[in-house]
Amino acid sequence: MCKPYWTRWILATHSWTLDTEEGIILMCLAEALLRIPDAETADALIEDKLSDAAWDKHLSQSDSLFVNASTWGLMLSGKVTGLGKDRDEKPATLIGRMVDRLGEPVIRAAMYQAMKIMGKQFVLGRNIDEALKTADSNRQKGYTHSFDMLGEAALTAADAKRYQQSYFDAITAIGSKSYDDSAPRPGISIKLSALHPRYEESQRDRVLSELYDSVIKLTQHARALDIQLTIDAEEMDRLELSLHLFQKLYHSDAAKGWGNFGLVVQAYSTRALPVLHWLNCLAAETGTRIPVRLVKGAYWDSEIKLCQQMGLDGYPVFTRKVNTDVSYLACANYLLAKAQDNLFPQFATHNAQTVSTILHFVEKYQNRQFEFQRLHGMGHELYDKVLRQEKNRGNPTDARIYAPVGAHKDLLPYLVRRLLENGANTSFVHKLVDPNTPVDSLAAHPVREVKKHNSFYNTAIVKPGDIFAERPNSKGVNLHIEGQRQPFISTVNGFADKQYHIASLINGKDHPCEKKKAIVSPYNHSQVVGSISLADADTAKLALAEARKAYPAWNKVSVQQRAKILHHIADLYEAHRHELVSLCIREAGKVFQDSIDEIREAVDFCRYYATQAEKNWGEPLMLPGPTGESNELQISGRGVFFCISPWNFPLAIFTGQIVAALVTGNAVIAKPADSTNSIAYRAVQLMHAAGVPANVLQLVCGPGEIVGQTLVEDDGIDGICFTGSTATAKHLNRTLAARQGAIVPFIAETGGQNAMLVDSTSLPEQVVTDVVHSAFMSAGQRCSALRVLYLQNDIADKVIELLKGAMQELVIGNPESYKTDIGSVIDARAQSGLLAHLAHLSGIGKIIYQAKPTAIDTDNATFVPPTAVEIDSIKQLEKEQFGPILHVIRFNRKNLNQVIDDINSTGYGLTFGIHSRNETFYTAYRAPGPKPAARIICCVLSMKKPSATILPPSVVTLRYWCWVAVD
Ligand code: FAD
Repeated sequence: MCKPYWTRWILATHSWTLDTEEGIILMCLAEALLRIPDAETADALIEDKLSDAAWDKHLSQSDSLFVNASTWGLMLSGKVTGLGKDRDEKPATLIGRMVDRLGEPVIRAAMYQAMKIMGKQFVLGRNIDEALKTADSNRQKGYTHSFDMLGEAALTAADAKRYQQSYFDAITAIGSKSYDDSAPRPGISIKLSALHPRYEESQRDRVLSELYDSVIKLTQHARALDIQLTIDAEEMDRLELSLHLFQKLYHSDAAKGWGNFGLVVQAYSTRALPVLHWLNCLAAETGTRIPVRLVKGAYWDSEIKLCQQMGLDGYPVFTRKVNTDVSYLACANYLLAKAQDNLFPQFATHNAQTVSTILHFVEKYQNRQFEFQRLHGMGHELYDKVLRQEKNRGNPTDARIYAPVGAHKDLLPYLVRRLLENGANTSFVHKLVDPNTPVDSLAAHPVREVKKHNSFYNTAIVKPGDIFAERPNSKGVNLHIEGQRQPFISTVNGFADKQYHIASLINGKDHPCEKKKAIVSPYNHSQVVGSISLADADTAKLALAEARKAYPAWNKVSVQQRAKILHHIADLYEAHRHELVSLCIREAGKVFQDSIDEIREAVDFCRYYATQAEKNWGEPLMLPGPTGESNELQISGRGVFFCISPWNFPLAIFTGQIVAALVTGNAVIAKPADSTNSIAYRAVQLMHAAGVPANVLQLVCGPGEIVGQTLVEDDGIDGICFTGSTATAKHLNRTLAARQGAIVPFIAETGGQNAMLVDSTSLPEQVVTDVVHSAFMSAGQRCSALRVLYLQNDIADKVIELLKGAMQELVIGNPESYKTDIGSVIDARAQSGLLAHLAHLSGIGKIIYQAKPTAIDTDNATFVPPTAVEIDSIKQLEKEQFGPILHVIRFNRKNLNQVIDDINSTGYGLTFGIHSRNETFYTAYRAPGPKPAARIICCVLSMKKPSATILPPSVVTLRYWCWVAVD
């Protein structure tokens, strides 16, 4: 029905070219290049990206570089070398020759020039005055505009203030101009994430007051000047928050009765139609028309990845492109039906099929007001044609251009988003330029396409629960969604008063001893969680005797049966996750999200070891018998393992150590940290309930110096798993060495100086987000937490300023509140050590920022203020400080090798990160050094599309205890 009308447009829109791998590499280069202040790093990046090897890898399949290069303006340098004249020469050779002949400085100049050309294509002006001038010629063609001030999300209050001023000034400039009737008056689009540093559900109070105030000011100003204001749509996790805010704004005097204050709705959201219905009700209730820009949505890849990473039940977006298309059309139909009274439809798409179907709908709804929208730099041929054709048919139609305004250096993040949307092979513009796409498939009506599928869900997109082929993903909760958060938190709070009166569990029974003490919350010492009867040396000996008796029978249980029990433990942990989260908060002082992650990691440990055991050790392994003999490798438990775990991962590490030992046939004596006995007690109860025989797993809750010492010295212990401080590990090692019996395995995971290197190719906003998370979340009490941040001199000031601003936004207080980012540290001993270190630092370093606690009684809690401090050298640090203290060191690019030597000289680091866009740089330093096992945790920030193999954090943080079995 629509085909003949729009197939002619396809032929007219054949100009989009930024859709290939080579384009993305060039985009990566340009994205970083514009902000690198020093020529040396810029040239190193050029060499990295344009080196022969890189191009060979990416171009072997294609020679479409010529198309890309012309789009990118790289031909500027091509002109000099004659690039592209000889069509037979391979692109890889050409690029290599170009770099060799011209040298990086010339390429650098060419790339800057290319950016200017790109800027002209995708940015209407470098500032609002320039944009308004350029806009005039579009108005003559019948287009109006919605101006967008380029920039990314605000990390700091200062950023937010700057963006607000920029929107305000833009409205002033747009409103001060007079406009003829050739097109409707222009408007402005705003991003809420640019106007508040904590535009997040957890900070709803601030959003509904502070962000509300900012938007009200802009709304009043825009209304006074009759400039339409539109709120852009961002990630799905912000949808509910944005609607709450919009509702409040719409009831304000600033918006009521105006009819020019609108928002964007994303059709790829499974909630799109309900949202439109809700908006229709809001418009009816306030008696004010709401303009609605209908888009398909720009964050699909990241929405999918996030849900997989968080282990959620499903996706908030459709999983088939055609479902999004159908949803869009259904929403369009709804909007047109309501256009008479409450809603003003603004259809934003570059898909000619979608446009033509809408025009077909319009014939049904006579005299309904609506407009089309497109992005500046895209779809002009399509819309030029629509405007002309509709005018000729006597139905003049309005079209608005979404027009980015800003400096070229701010263009790239915006452009990358556009590239990800339009570079996807499902995208209409991508298919349009692909000569292999049959025209019929472009013209196919999405409803017909949807009907071809048997199921609504696209099975090619693996569900979050199934991302691991071998085992189920652990279940998460999306706290950003009220419908999930409220029932979850209220069930957790149901355990808030539960008291745990606990003791060691010998053969599954409480074994009280004489010495008792109260268990209190670290963030509120008057809050009692329960009491503990502390084990003495006799209890430890009894546990060992019972475990020794249990071991032989357990070792004979099949691997399959033991693995089955581990799977059952995982299921029971998930079934009891509310109680376990409550305990993680109350006893360990973890915030909600950290507690959920803790349970997930523990669950994943169980499933991971179970599947590994089934896969690798289910049957004996036949080895070659070179001289005709038969060689068979079987695994067997060693005897009784003593598992000593820390308080910072009171369930995850505790469980990981135990289940690895159990599944390989060992009996276990578990000794939890002194501060987190209740969590361990509940965990062991659940393990017993899951089928671990009560005598195979003994829990001994008592002081390390009594219980630990007694057992480590005893020849009855056949191996030790330990996570904790290096000093204790060394002590245990010496004690074991002094034993007379067999030499037994000692597996120790200890701390060290975790460092991160940041060079000037990296994006400061990304760096600061990662740094704040790594250094301060869980109050810095993670073995992997960042301790020493190395910043290249050239960007250090900027990163430090951002870091300071981002730290000011942290909420430090009571972890029982969902709003809290950071709570207290675990106990008085940890607190006094950290405070002493801070006192020492005040003499040798320069405090960058020290965060202040908000709702917490610091006299009644073991609280340490999160602090960033600048020092001269890592050598000034004697040992790891296990808390919220970040040390910042500047470095000169020329001294990089010295920096690496300095880090290596600290002896040991558990994690190591690199922030760089330069692949040569980050792969060079990725290899483990001679001493530290420098594992990269967060380095590869290239701009490639997210791959299907990104691993969730529960996997990235796995600690491998497997060799317990084979040592
Ligand atoms: P099409 O190629 O027909 O559709 C692409 C859409 O399909 C994308 O949304 C993509 O995510 C989706 N898709 C791809 N694969 C799948 C799959 N397997 N399952 C389900 N869906 C899939 N976006 C925002 O998010 N917020 C905004 O505020 C915003 N403002 C915009 C303003 C204007 C004027 C325009 C033109 C676009 C805006 N966008 C915004 C971008 C928009 O959401 C689309 O990404 C873009 O327009 C491409 O959609 P299309 O209809 O042109 O192309």
